[in-house]
Amino acid sequence: MKINLRAMRLQFPQVELNIYNKNNPIEVPILKSEIATSSASPNIIRHITFDLSGTELAGKFFAGQSIGVLPPGVTDKGKPEPLRLYSISSPSYGEDGAGNHHSTTVKRLIGEHWETRQLYAGVCSNYLSSLRPGDTVKVTGPSGKRFLLPENSEDFNYVFFATGTGVAPFRGMIKDLMKKGHRGSIVLIFGAPYRTDLLYESYFRQTESENKNFHYIPTISREDPREDGSRPYVQTQLIDRKKLLYPILEQENTLIYVCGLKGMETGIIQGLAAQSLSDYLVFKKPLNGDPYSWDSDIMKRAVKPGERMFLEVY
Ligand SMILES: Cc1cc2nc3c(=O)[nH]c(=O)nc-3n(C[C@H](O)[C@H](O)[C@H](O)COP(=O)(O)OP(=O)(O)OC[C@H]3O[C@@H](n4cnc5c(N)ncnc54)[C@H](O)[C@@H]3O)c2cc1C
Repeated sequence: MKINLRAMRLQFPQVELNIYNKNNPIEVPILKSEIATSSASPNIIRHITFDLSGTELAGKFFAGQSIGVLPPGVTDKGKPEPLRLYSISSPSYGEDGAGNHHSTTVKRLIGEHWETRQLYAGVCSNYLSSLRPGDTVKVTGPSGKRFLLPENSEDFNYVFFATGTGVAPFRGMIKDLMKKGHRGSIVLIFGAPYRTDLLYESYFRQTESENKNFHYIPTISREDPREDGSRPYVQTQLIDRKKLLYPILEQENTLIYVCGLKGMETGIIQGLAAQSLSDYLVFKKPLNGDPYSWDSDIMKRAVKPGERMFLEVY
């Protein structure tokens, strides 16, 4: 069914922003903190639930928004550690059904300094991941007013692209849509290097088995080669799963959401342009030739997501 999007209007819910901010945070207890990756994975990602009961944040978060976390301590320059944002991975109604308990999905950031080869640990992700149930943490929010489901969510189809913890907002959004008995198509394309890094796998599999309109496409870049032997990424599913995706993407009432690693949008934009699905894009300058040959720096200046594509990359 083709629908005129302009006649239908994309409406977003009115959200309250920054009820608590960095100068006025609120201290809340951690309710739960559970490993979300498989025990065999070298990556440590936790599903962490905050108890917001009795604060102004209770009932105020919408799936797709973020919570701010203020770690203790000061930076090298002696300034207080800045706030870090974490996507809410719970549905708008919370883990408890009443908006009191909201979760996030945190990856411990651990790396090697390129020059000194010293190991470093990200400040906030490791602070948050080490907290135990009952410990308290200073939080702010809600943050974000555009990476949300529309208020009239039942009028649309959804194609979600996620890498790593970028799947967090989509767990919440999919739960919101399922609770409302959504009847349009929903596709989740989730990219991870190894199967052990997949998050919320059993929820997505079960939802797919119970709902014909929900399609889950895990994309394991280092384990499941494509037919030609190359590695699959979320954007290559636009080609490999074209039979499923194209009829959904060509509908005027389909929305695309992209969340995860910075730069993941480049391949998705190229894939959309290559399939003449440029309605999702706004070209500030014309780009010619094969979209897959477009230079990513030039693309950054020339093309951006249009009205039906939402991007949250970090
Ligand atoms: C809207 C939004 C939503 C987000 N949602 C999530 C989410 O759901 N889950 C999630 O896990 N993250 C999320 N993030 C990212 C999160 O905010 C943090 O950026 C992330 O956790 C890293 O913070 P950190 O304090 O652990 O690392 P930091 O200490 O801030 O370090 C960050 C970077 O600094 C560099 N660095 C730090 N120390 C050193 C060193 N000693 N030597 C060399 N380089 C160094 C590294 O490049 C490192 O990548 C989100 C970000 C945004 C903007």
